[in-house]
Amino acid sequence: MRTLILFLLLLAGIYFARRLLARTSEGLRKRQPRHPASERMVACAHCGLHVPESEAVIVDGVGFCSPEHRRLHHDDRA
Ligand SMILES: [Zn+2]
Repeated sequence: MRTLILFLLLLAGIYFARRLLARTSEGLRKRQPRHPASERMVACAHCGLHVPESEAVIVDGVGFCSPEHRRLHHDDRA
């Protein structure tokens, strides 16, 4: 019985390790074209964090890292 459980655990371990490896290499392949090194970075006007232009929230030429920071920034000024 103990041997069976150990065997199943081993199989599960191999299964998860393979899935993790597959996902990691797939993620790297997918990420590279989406974030080329040449993409412009935008500094968040609220916290200063730099985010790729495609992911930034840009309002009136001012960039933010997230809609939340856009909202907070406008709240500060009001
Ligand atoms: Zn921010």
